[in-house]
Amino acid sequence: MADDTLQRLRGEVVACRRCPRLVSYRERVAQERKREFREETYWGKPVPGFGDPSARLVGVGLAPAAHGSNRTGRMFTGDRSAAFLVRALYDAGYASQPTSTRRGDGLSYRDFYLTAGVRCVPPDNRPRPDERDRCRPFLERELRLLSRARAILAFGGFAWEASLDAAARAFEVDRPGVAFAHGAAAPLGPGKPIVWASYHPSPQNTNTGKLTRAMLVDLLARIRAGYE
Ligand code: SF4
Repeated sequence: MADDTLQRLRGEVVACRRCPRLVSYRERVAQERKREFREETYWGKPVPGFGDPSARLVGVGLAPAAHGSNRTGRMFTGDRSAAFLVRALYDAGYASQPTSTRRGDGLSYRDFYLTAGVRCVPPDNRPRPDERDRCRPFLERELRLLSRARAILAFGGFAWEASLDAAARAFEVDRPGVAFAHGAAAPLGPGKPIVWASYHPSPQNTNTGKLTRAMLVDLLARIRAGYE
């Protein structure tokens, strides 16, 4: 699409209703709400990417969280995964502030853009293969539109597979056969971005020390050193 833009993509993402199971789940969660957020109006729609359109680093998550992005309408905003990730991004110099609590909280990214493999919250954080495949064209288009991207950082195994699939299509290369591991790197070829992997910043990983902030800040520094 020669005249495609991030703004057009955003509009299409937010209006998308292609996955019946996810549409009904995201809307039900937004109606039922969590007790502590009972007075809030949930977003309850697909969550578009957020960040610097000239970013050289693109982060890719799994999908919105039920009471995080599905509530706030911004990627990695309003839950404990967001708190951990954005603090690390701030330490690494990519985020304007160390917290991400709601749209309009003043957070902006420099040289960084944040998106996800699937844009609607899935039950049990598990999108089905058909849902993943239906959502993939959005990520492909986004990667093409982020024309300054030098690195793609996938958070967790699902995002890793989704990023390799979408990046291989976006950059018209064979899909790299690199296994997921924290710090794994899959170059797409000369002049094209490298896809990197991190453990997901979920409480399951960060509370157990599987992923520490120092590990993530170190990885962000290594990735940046590769393109600066
Ligand atoms: S997961 Fe993606 S393709 Fe499916 S309804 Fe949501 S935005 Fe649309």
